[in-house]
Amino acid sequence: MSEDDYKTEKKKQAASLNSIDFDARSLAELPSPMLQWIDQNGFDIVFVCSNDGMIQYISTSITRLLGYLPDEVLGTSSLTYLDSCDVPILKNRFKSVVEWPQRFHFTALDNRGKHIWMEASISLIEEEDASYYVGVAKDVSDKKEIEEMMFRSEKMSVAGQLAAGIAHEIRNPLTSLKGFLQLIQAGISRKEEYYKIMVDEIEKIETITSELLFISKPVAENKEPETIHEMLQDVITLLYSQARLQNVQISFEKGANSRLLCDRSQIKQLFINLIKNALEEMPNGGKIDIRQREEGSDCIVDVVDEGPGIPDEVLAKLKEPFFTTKKEGTGLGLMICTQILEKHHGALDILRNDTKGSTFRVSMPITPI
Ligand code: ADP
Ligand code: MG
Repeated sequence: MSEDDYKTEKKKQAASLNSIDFDARSLAELPSPMLQWIDQNGFDIVFVCSNDGMIQYISTSITRLLGYLPDEVLGTSSLTYLDSCDVPILKNRFKSVVEWPQRFHFTALDNRGKHIWMEASISLIEEEDASYYVGVAKDVSDKKEIEEMMFRSEKMSVAGQLAAGIAHEIRNPLTSLKGFLQLIQAGISRKEEYYKIMVDEIEKIETITSELLFISKPVAENKEPETIHEMLQDVITLLYSQARLQNVQISFEKGANSRLLCDRSQIKQLFINLIKNALEEMPNGGKIDIRQREEGSDCIVDVVDEGPGIPDEVLAKLKEPFFTTKKEGTGLGLMICTQILEKHHGALDILRNDTKGSTFRVSMPITPI
C-alpha cells in the first residue's frame, strides 16, 4: 500500500467510526467497526489460550509486533513463540500461581527469530467445562534499553567505587612479589619454594582483577545453568578487600547448591549491590551473614547486615530510581536488583531484623533438571 493509499484508508476508517451512533459502556457493547479498529490499530497483543497453552484467539496486532499472521499462529502452542530458556521457568510459575491476573516478563521470538522483550498480564478464566488463559502482551524493548543504560552506568560506578579497595588488595601481593624478586636477584638458594609463593600471589591478583573486569563488562543477556555457591563465592572474593578495610566480617552459610538458569553476570551484580549496600551501612565494622537455602522450588539468599536498619519513610522509596541517602550514592542499586530479579522470575523482600539491621531476601526459582 502506498503512503497515499494508506492515508485514504485511515480517513475512511475514521469517517466510518464517526458515523456510528452508540452508547457503549464496556468493550463488549462496542459496535463491531470500533472493535475492528481497536484490533487493527492497537499495539498490544490480546490472546486467549486453552488450558494446555494452545492459541485459540489472537489479535491482528501480532503481525505488527512479531510479524506472524493470526492464521498461522491459531491452533499452535504459545510456547513455540517464546525463547526456550524462559519456557521451563514460566511453566513452573504458572503452576504455582494462586491469584490472577499475574504479570510475566519473557522474551518472544518474532518471525525472523529476533528476540523481543515482552511483558504480559494474564488471567485464568474458569468456565464450567473448560478453562482459558486470557492475556494482553506488549513490547517493552524501549523500556529495556533505558534500563540497560542505567544498568551500565551503575556497573561503572560500582567498579569505580570498588577500585580503591581493590588497588589496596593488589598492592600487598605486589609488595611480596617485589621482595621475592629482589631475593632471587641477590642469588639466594631455595628458589623453588619462592616461586610457588610468587605464583600464588599472582593468582590472587588475577582473581581480583578478573572479577573487576567482569562487573564492568557490557550487558548482553546470556542465561545458562549456573550454581549459586560459586556465584556467591565470587562476589564475596570481590568484596572481601572492601570488607576488610572496614573491619566487616562476611560469613557464608550454604544450603543445597541450587541450580539456576540465569545470567551469571547479572546475578553477581545483584549480590554485589546488596552486599555493598550492607557494607556502606557499617562503616565501623560488624558482620554480614549470607544465608542460602532451598525452600520448595525456590533458592533463597538472605543478606543480613548489622547496620542501623531502614526507617519506615525510607522503606517505601527504596526501589525507586535515584533515591539515595548517601553523598556518593546513585540510588540505582536496588532498582537494578529488582529488574534483574524480574528478568529471572524472582523477588526481593526487605525485612527488619529482630535485633539490629536489615535482611534483603532474594528468592529465585530453581531450574528443574
Ligand atoms: P545507593 O546505594 O546508591 O544509595 P541503592 O538503590 O543501592 O542506592 O540504595 C538506596 C538506599 O536504600 C540507600 O541510599 C540507603 O538509604 C537504603 N539502603 C539500601 N540498603 C540498605 C541497608 N542494607 N540498610 C539500610 N539502608 C539501606
Ligand atoms: Mg547501593
